[in-house]
Amino acid sequence: VEEVHVNGTAKQETSETSTTTTEEASTKSDEQSTTKVVKTAAKGRHAGVGEKTILRNVGLMEYILESSVYPREHEQLKELRLETAKHPWNMMLSPADEARFLQVLLKLMNAKKTMEIGVYTGYSLLATALAIPEDGEIIAMDINRDCLNVGWPSIEKAGVAHKIDFREGPALELLDVILADEKHHDSFDFIFVDADKNNYINYHPKLLQLVKVGGLIAYDNTLWNGTVSMTDAELEEHPKYVRHYKPFIMELNKFLAEDSRIDLSLVSIGDGITLCRRVV
Ligand code: SAM
Ligand code: CA
Repeated sequence: VEEVHVNGTAKQETSETSTTTTEEASTKSDEQSTTKVVKTAAKGRHAGVGEKTILRNVGLMEYILESSVYPREHEQLKELRLETAKHPWNMMLSPADEARFLQVLLKLMNAKKTMEIGVYTGYSLLATALAIPEDGEIIAMDINRDCLNVGWPSIEKAGVAHKIDFREGPALELLDVILADEKHHDSFDFIFVDADKNNYINYHPKLLQLVKVGGLIAYDNTLWNGTVSMTDAELEEHPKYVRHYKPFIMELNKFLAEDSRIDLSLVSIGDGITLCRRVV
């Protein structure tokens, strides 16, 4: 899972943040996995069952998950998370505390029309579907539909599949199709971007045309394993894919910070998520 990815295939994206094996993931209980993850995170590496965090304090991470996240996690979200733990690319799964945060945000915004770029098995997709109203919608995109088969039974069981319009293919091309229909312009309340990091900066101008003024674009993994503040020497200890994508994240962060069309906050939850509110 540590090969460099350059053209955004699903296989390549599997390398987002982990070193945990499927065997480890599938043989551990939920709680054991959490402990392993936060301990690994404390050592400065991100591993295990998709529960990645830049928080380096083991006790705090455990406390957050056990005291407020897992007790509030929807039954089918938990089911999907545990099913994904058995999948070989489970490190791509969104962290549960981040999904919880996004759910509160979506409800606060009364988000109804949403988009997700980068679905994998559907954890953040299901979290979004549960947080928006009955007649809410999510246009969800991924270059690969296969992984979503893992989470789809949970999504159906949760009774929210009707909110999802899944489109398979490279997001840049799918966005052009959406943009060709003017009814979508300035219409999205919320857009979650969690796919090929090298293209975030290319998604941005398209997404700014699709999100409404006052709506939110959220870019995931913008602290990139904590490497954004590391020296080249420190970076050497990280896998090749982390080193490869760091400049793209750095470029994006710089660009967003200077973009006067948005208001923004880089929130240090999960692996960092940059919230961009369109202002003009
Ligand atoms: N949001 C998911 C979750 O909550 O578990 C995790 C998404 S995972 C980190 C990234 C996904 O982006 C992968 O499923 C991969 O197939 C997809 N992807 C990579 N490049 C893409 C592209 N160019 N267009 C669309 N999807 C892409
Ligand atoms: Ca992510």
